[in-house]
Amino acid sequence: MNTQTHKQTDNKMKRKDLVGIGIGPFNLSIAALCHDIPELDVAFFDQKKDFCWHPGMMLPNTYLQTSFLKDLVTAVNPQSPFSFLSYLVSKKRFYAFLNNERPAISRHEYNDYLQWVSRQIEYLHFNQGIESVDFKDDHFEVALADSGEVVAANNLCLGTGKRPHIPQAVNHLHDQYSCFHAINMANLPRDFSGKRVTVIGGGQSGAEIFLHLLQGQDGMPAEINWISRRSNFLPMDETCFTNEWFSPNYIDSFFPLPSTTKHDIVGEQKLASDGISGTTLQAIYETLYEKQVAGENQHYRLCPNRDLIAAQKDKGYRLEAHNKFDGSHEEFRSDVIILATGFENVIPSYLESMKDRLQITQDQQFILNRDYSIEWDGPSQNKIYAVNAGRYSHGISEPQMSLMCWRSATIVNDLLGRDIFDLNDNCSFVEWGDSRPVSALEKRLTA
Ligand SMILES: Cc1cc2nc3c(=O)[nH]c(=O)nc-3n(C[C@H](O)[C@H](O)[C@H](O)COP(=O)(O)OP(=O)(O)OC[C@H]3O[C@@H](n4cnc5c(N)ncnc54)[C@H](O)[C@@H]3O)c2cc1C
Repeated sequence: MNTQTHKQTDNKMKRKDLVGIGIGPFNLSIAALCHDIPELDVAFFDQKKDFCWHPGMMLPNTYLQTSFLKDLVTAVNPQSPFSFLSYLVSKKRFYAFLNNERPAISRHEYNDYLQWVSRQIEYLHFNQGIESVDFKDDHFEVALADSGEVVAANNLCLGTGKRPHIPQAVNHLHDQYSCFHAINMANLPRDFSGKRVTVIGGGQSGAEIFLHLLQGQDGMPAEINWISRRSNFLPMDETCFTNEWFSPNYIDSFFPLPSTTKHDIVGEQKLASDGISGTTLQAIYETLYEKQVAGENQHYRLCPNRDLIAAQKDKGYRLEAHNKFDGSHEEFRSDVIILATGFENVIPSYLESMKDRLQITQDQQFILNRDYSIEWDGPSQNKIYAVNAGRYSHGISEPQMSLMCWRSATIVNDLLGRDIFDLNDNCSFVEWGDSRPVSALEKRLTA
């Protein structure tokens, strides 16, 4: 719901236990868990006019890469009225959903679920961007962008996501209509008929956009290039032992490791989170095959192993790439460039006046404690939690939704100072570090 006047007055008068900045899925999960805890007075703010999950990437036939059971609440509070199953029942689609037997739900349906939750929580305030945050005496002051109102809070949770990454080689060309980041694609007027289109990026978004173009969903392009740095169009590893990296136990083992070790491990695990889902790869291959059978002479090039090194405007665009497979230098001509090049961390501008008080690494990562609060020089009872910020502290699951509600519950428990959510999920079959309790047998043998 949008903020109403009486709520603003409320905010002015009463200091909140927690103010959440940004309402993406991650802070929405925290908000949903707070719902049944009357002792917590919380408020969440977002600049968007209502909840919408990455609207610019809401292309048809795109699917969640995570089980619907890993929703906002279920893993820590299956009785919550905000579970995906409650949503299905309330929408009268429970049996149809089961009959549909899809391995993954569509992003449209997931967005609809998130919107359904967001409409039921009264302390979410949309159309309220945050301009700045300051710390005065014993509390934070959060300034809203348009109204000028200031909300006081004992604790904050930063949930404003990441910034689209624009590769350096095309930075000077980046514009709204012909060289743009994939995050905006669905928001743009699109007609690619007869155009040469180049997709850069070999992850899930790049694959979805390549398929979308190949199927001519926005007009049939004359030529499609798909360029990736990776050695091939590589699948996401969704097998069971890899999925153990997305478990609470793994975080317990990972968190205490030295920072350089963590960086190496996360680098090695890339395909567990950033690979392409098997169904998308299959759909691309099938589409290519059927085009071959039909004798269609559409031009497309699938080019892995290429590093984009330069780009200029030249009757459209001229892109230059280094082919790491055979060492050659190649050129691609294009009218449109779509950058499916991922996201990067930035320190949000609303933290400008507090930046010097926060512990931040050279590569612009917050230094996080185990409870997801940022290390800072202020009082320890005033915490600044950050979600989607701990890939190199808590592990590969951080930017993903797999452990979203477990992390939310960790934060809420910490906020309350007691374990309202039981987070002792000890079922893991892999010993990551030497964290075993010494068994009675070992004690006897070594005595
Ligand atoms: C297309 C796409 C598909 C994905 N699919 C999956 C998937 O299937 N499975 C999975 O595990 N992960 C997936 N992810 C990764 C991740 O789960 C999502 O990016 C997720 O949305 C991250 O949530 P968030 O809450 O951190 O940030 P976001 O969803 O980016 O939300 C941040 C919010 O902060 C708001 N905001 C920003 N600045 C301000 C400000 N100054 N004041 C107020 N509000 C502000 C924004 O308006 C926005 O609503 C996907 C990512 C993308 C891009």
